[in-house]
Formats: sequence, C-alpha cells, structure tokens
Amino acid sequence: MVQAAISSETSTQTIQSKAIAEISYYVAMPNPHNHLFELEIQIKGWQGKVLDLRMPTWTPGSYLIREYARHVQDFAAIASATEESLTWHKQAKNHWQISTGDTTDITVRYRVYANELTVRTNHLDATHGYFNGAALFFFVPGYTDESFILTVEPPHEAWQINTTLPLLEDYENRFWVENFDVLVDSPVEVGLHESYEFIYNDKPHRWVVWGDGNLDVDQAIADTKNIIKVEADIYGGDLPYDEYMFLLHLSSSGYGGLEHKESCSLNYPRFGFKKRDSYNRFMQLVAHEFFHLWNVKRIRPKALEVFDYENENYTPSLWFSEGITSYYDLIIPLWAGVYNEKFFLESLGKDISRYLTTPGRFVQPLAESSFDAWVKLYRRDANSNNSQMSYYLKGAMVSLMLDLLIRDRHNNQKSLDNVMQVMWEQFGKEEIGFTPEQAQQVIEGVAGCNLDDFFQRYLHGFEEVNLDHYLEPFGLKLKPIYDDNKVPYLGAIAKTTNNQTLVESVDSGSPAHRAGIDPGDEILAIADYRITADQLGDRLQNYQAGDTISITIFQQDQLKTLAVTLAEAQPSSYQVKKNPQASATQQQKLKGWLQR
Ligand SMILES: [Zn+2]
Repeated sequence: MVQAAISSETSTQTIQSKAIAEISYYVAMPNPHNHLFELEIQIKGWQGKVLDLRMPTWTPGSYLIREYARHVQDFAAIASATEESLTWHKQAKNHWQISTGDTTDITVRYRVYANELTVRTNHLDATHGYFNGAALFFFVPGYTDESFILTVEPPHEAWQINTTLPLLEDYENRFWVENFDVLVDSPVEVGLHESYEFIYNDKPHRWVVWGDGNLDVDQAIADTKNIIKVEADIYGGDLPYDEYMFLLHLSSSGYGGLEHKESCSLNYPRFGFKKRDSYNRFMQLVAHEFFHLWNVKRIRPKALEVFDYENENYTPSLWFSEGITSYYDLIIPLWAGVYNEKFFLESLGKDISRYLTTPGRFVQPLAESSFDAWVKLYRRDANSNNSQMSYYLKGAMVSLMLDLLIRDRHNNQKSLDNVMQVMWEQFGKEEIGFTPEQAQQVIEGVAGCNLDDFFQRYLHGFEEVNLDHYLEPFGLKLKPIYDDNKVPYLGAIAKTTNNQTLVESVDSGSPAHRAGIDPGDEILAIADYRITADQLGDRLQNYQAGDTISITIFQQDQLKTLAVTLAEAQPSSYQVKKNPQASATQQQKLKGWLQR
C-alpha cells in the first residue's frame, strides 16, 4: 500500500484506519477471447471474523441499476498463507460474506464475463480489454476511502495499458489508486490500440483509439484543442487535472459517452467521421463529455456528493448536470469553430423539434424526470413518448431559455457561462454538493431577477415553453415544418418488416389513440385496401382533417376494423429562422451570443 501526501483532517483519520488492513487488486486476462477477466483481491491484516465484499450495482453517469454482479462467476476465498479454502455465503445479490475466523491474510478470486461493448460495461476479446471499476471490482464496506494498488496483467507483451491512474515508479503495470471512487472513475483500456498524444496548456492529453475506422486524427486533435480552450475559458481558464484521456471505441453502430474526471469513454460508428454532419455530431459528443469534467464530475448535485454504489441516488437536479451540458454541447463546437452558424441553428432546430413533438412534455415535469431516471429514462417502451420528458432534452431547452434570458437582460455581458463559473467556484472546486435551491439562487444572482415563476412553470410544472418569447430579442423565430403537403394527422408510427406492418407508437390524445389503436397492432388496410408503413403518408393525403376512415388491424390476433377521425396536420419539425427584418439591436444580440 502506498500512502498519499496527507494534509487535511479527514485524511488523518484515514491513516488510522489504514492500520487495519491492506487491500490490493489484480486483473488478468490470460485468454481474452473467452471474455473472462480474472480477478484477485488480496487483503492483509484483516481483524474481523467475517469479511464482506460488495459489488456496485451501477456506475456514476449512467443512472440505472445494472446489476454488475450478474457477470461474476467462479468466486473463491482462501487463506493466503495456506491456500486453504474459506467458507463464504451470499447475503444478497451483490454481497458475498467470507467467514475468516482468525485468518488475517485473505485472497479472493473470481471471474467476470465481459462481452458488452458499451461505455459503462466491460469488454474483453482477442484485440483488447476494457473495464469500468464499478462493473469489475468488489469493495470492502468501510474501506472505500483507502488507497490501494491495482496490478493489470496484459495477456501479451504487445498489449499496452492506458488509464489515467498513476503508475507506481519502476513498474509498468502497477497503479496507485487513491480510493475506490477513483478506481470507479478511471476506466482502463488494455490492448493493441493507437495512442495519439498532444499537449494543451502544458498538460498531456491523448486520444486512445481502439478499432479501425475513418477518423482523421489530426483533424480531431485540432478540433479537440479548440473545444478544450472554449470550455476552459467558460470555467475561468484552468484545467483541473494533471492529464486527460479521450478513449474512443470504434464499432459498427455503437454510440455513447461516459464522463470521468480525467478521461471520457466514447463509442462511435467506425466509419462515421467522413460525412460532415456525422463528424459534427461526434464533436458534440466530445464537447459534451469534456464539459462534464466540471459539470457533474465536480459540480455535483447533493445526492451525488458521496456515491452510494449499491442503491439509487435520487436527485431532481440531473436537468442541471445533463441538460445544461446538452445545451453547451450544441454551441461549444460553434464557438470552437468546428461548425458554422447554419449547422448550429439546424441542430438547435432538431432538438426543439424533438421536444415539441414529444407528448410526454405535458405529463412529466423536468425535476421529476431527473428523479425518476432510475426507472424511466433508460427503460423506454412504446408509451415513453407519451409519459416521459427526457431531462437531457427539456433540460437543454430550459438552459437555452435561461441563457437567452440572462443575455437579453445584460446585453450579452452576462450569460449562462457566469452561472457555471459561480457554480464552479462555490461547489465544484471543493466538490461540495449543491441543492436545487442553491442552483436556483446562483442562476437568479447572475440573471439579477427572481425566477420562482420560471422554475415553477418549467421545472416543477409542465407548461408549454414559449421558445419564441426567448428567441425574439435575438431576431430568431421558430418555423413549423409540415411534411407531405399537410397530411391529416393520424398519430401512429408504424414500421413494415417482412410484409408485416406493426404500430410502434401511438401519440396520446391522437386520432389513432382515440380510436383504440395500440403499439404492437398489425395494420392491414385503410378503407379495405392493403397498406404498408411507406404508403401511409401518401394514402392519408387523399383525406381531409375531419374525415372518418376505416382502418383494419389485427389486435391481439383479433381482426378489427376501427373508425378513425383524422385531425388537422401537425408540424413534423421546427426550424430556427433568422428574421430578415431584425433590428440592429437584435442582430447585435445574436452576434454577441453566437460569436461569443
Ligand atoms: Zn451527459
């Protein structure tokens, strides 16, 4: 065990408890093609009669109980000195209890099946090993603040280890881990991958890329540097880390990102970098995860100040952590010169369209969406659009409105950037969790006005947001777009596969909903003539709003013909348009916002 330089009072307490036991972790992967990580935990100087080991059920940044223990197999506990087996019993799904008696030095061995390539799980195959601490390691309750050593054994000499954990001097594969939180927050990539290093602000950064694809690394590094600069400026210029790693997994169709304090894990389609739009979206993902190193990794809602790795950590404030970050991931690449105003306004229009075409915005308030992330956002079903509003998406809408409100009131001399700076100073630097009331106070302080009404309407209620009201001072306006010459509204989305047309979702309150059409129904015909999903729009064009048509379906195997009264056409999307008659003041304000 290696001890850190200790200065604070809490750390002194840590030193005393360290006398009780030393813990070391070993990870090996001798046969990577079998997808099994081989783990060993060595505990020395154990004083108790039993030893409890618990596996996290989730990992920070991804708010769903994932039951990582389900991949644990071949668990064994032995006395280190004699190799004699120790008795153990499972106490709960993620809790193993070993009867240690007088044995002080204990070795625990187990394997973890790792064949799920996402940013929040483990993946091991013949080309690489990737792991997240929460998904691989047990912790010993009461000892999660202790430092320890992690040893990683690659299966071949050629495999490199990439992580932001500090290497122990004189070793190539032994890392010093400050505590269990740091282990969870430091993904490790082992394998045959490319590493591209660059310096920014005297600090080492690297892109580590696993998998083949068409990423232009030089371009990515140049754009990454510009994004780092813009984001650091927002928070006052400093980069609160010693080094940073962008870990990228290239796969056939994966998409995802997970933030850490000194790294992020990204998953993106391997051939998704040549097409400009797709590359821009990748840079939005980079901007998003990097922004998190401040917002959510250090500026944390109170409920996430200390992680409970076994249970849901409920908070109404994920809209702040994810919504603000989502708003910024649109505009930061613009400020960084990755893309132009046209692309930014198009992207903003797409987000606004998704928001304004989600019926769930009138059902689930934003704060509740955050609180219920654990049972809703990650568990979508056919009714989700009707009953849920993503805290990412509405959070971004609310953040947009707040930024525009502040900029309008202060003529761009203040903005949401100032909110983030104050949050960084008050909460982020010292990692003190913020309450919803404190966040509101900071926003009100920067805006210079009371926002009780705003928060009541848009955070705790589900009143329709009036985006035009906030866009107008900047000479912008929403333009509704109608597909296919204003086809009358049915309110059901269907998909045809193998000659079978199945309803995927039905908007609540829509004509299809009122007539009794359900997700899962098979649509056979409109007015007695066969229909496929592709033909639906064309066929509906033959009717007017108010017309009643017959739709024949199979519902739970029963043939039914339903009378459906079509409604007025609905916009399928919205665009953010510049008002050609915008005043000089409006143009000036727009320039101050978009050109920062
Ligand atoms: Zn995020």
